[in-house]
Amino acid sequence: MSSAPRIGFVSLGCPKALVDSERILTRLRAEGYDVVGSYEDANLVVVNTCGFIDDAVHESLDAIGEALARNGKVIVTGCLGAKPETITDLHPSVLKVTGPQAYEDVVAAVHEQLPPLHDPFIDLVPPQGIRLTPRHYAYLKISEGCNHRCTFCIIPSMRGDLASRPIGEVMLEAERLVKAGVKELLVISQDTSAYGADLKYATGFWGGKPVKARFTDLARSLGSLGAWVRLHYVYPYPHVDEVIPLMAEGKVLPYLDIPFQHGSPRVLKLMKRPAHAENTLERIARWREICPDLTLRSTFIVGFPGETEQDFQLLLDWLAEARLDRVGCFKYSPVEGAAANALPDPVPEEVKQERWERFMELASEISAGKLAAKVGRRMRVLVDLVGDDGAIARSAADAPEIDGTVKIFKPGKLEAGDWADVEITGSDDYDLIAKIAR
Ligand code: SF4
Repeated sequence: MSSAPRIGFVSLGCPKALVDSERILTRLRAEGYDVVGSYEDANLVVVNTCGFIDDAVHESLDAIGEALARNGKVIVTGCLGAKPETITDLHPSVLKVTGPQAYEDVVAAVHEQLPPLHDPFIDLVPPQGIRLTPRHYAYLKISEGCNHRCTFCIIPSMRGDLASRPIGEVMLEAERLVKAGVKELLVISQDTSAYGADLKYATGFWGGKPVKARFTDLARSLGSLGAWVRLHYVYPYPHVDEVIPLMAEGKVLPYLDIPFQHGSPRVLKLMKRPAHAENTLERIARWREICPDLTLRSTFIVGFPGETEQDFQLLLDWLAEARLDRVGCFKYSPVEGAAANALPDPVPEEVKQERWERFMELASEISAGKLAAKVGRRMRVLVDLVGDDGAIARSAADAPEIDGTVKIFKPGKLEAGDWADVEITGSDDYDLIAKIAR
């Protein structure tokens, strides 16, 4: 069994409650929780209740009692949560009761009782992910595990080889999310562009039509749902070229999150990175010709064992030419059980720090230049939050939590989850400032 925190889940009630359950589970799985099938294996159990008729109330109360008896740590949510005393009178030891459709509260309660593990080399969402997530976007996990063996990573040993979800199941979940009000789908996995390889790209059915379990077909089908579709954790395999025209046509967001990790072929080889032999600079230039608005986000590791000053300089040169829009950088630190621990020539901490600072200086200079070029442009944004000082929104170029934002002053009657058409009036290193477009 993996060391990830383990959640048991009991879902009762109507299809609407089922959608809520799926949203809670999608969120928890994206944060690295394992969902297990027995009370005994779980560290904590969430019971999503129904309170529509008396029978349903009894069934819910029985389910809570059973979870308490067999596990002991129980969080209750769903319709019956609207009348918390019905639950706490009978079961005073439940840890928390939240109401219907309050999935942000359930996730927060889980965080409180059973915090997620965070490892920047493993996690699919950042530590800030424990903030409450607005309900207008959702993570859509399309596969688990990975067929690669990057030397700094232990995911394959923890989660196994690539196991893709059938295309019909992914599309059904995406469709339900959009019907429930989600306006942005964030596609996640360990290796999104490898989607379906383990299924031999098997044909599934969605809406009565055949669809293949392939990255491009998935992107195209998701793009037909009318929500923003953002692709994360894409490796630059040759077939990634096929989604760029979909981006140019506005079917999926012109945004690619590609964890390049380095720019030196020698270090990439030491890392055993997938697609390390691809000429990424040429590919990026071609993608931008087809889709000039393409935003590229990536993460890098500096100070990997054996990285010389010359390798690092190659990385800086690569970044200067690639001019990526959004960049994160980690200083290498050994992960227990990773093959890279056995590599010779570790880089001293102070050298790692110095390289990290030089890297980030260049990255923020590029980011500031790119954002300044957007001043005066009009764009459509999705509002995440409205406060006294204005609204915080995101454009197609901004993934939640990890990228910048668009701050709108005097937003008028906007609410979280609204679309807005804005004109960009200013910028700094990572964020844009805007006003409502007339
Ligand atoms: S591609 Fe590499 S870094 Fe990513 S999950 Fe697979 S082994 Fe780990």
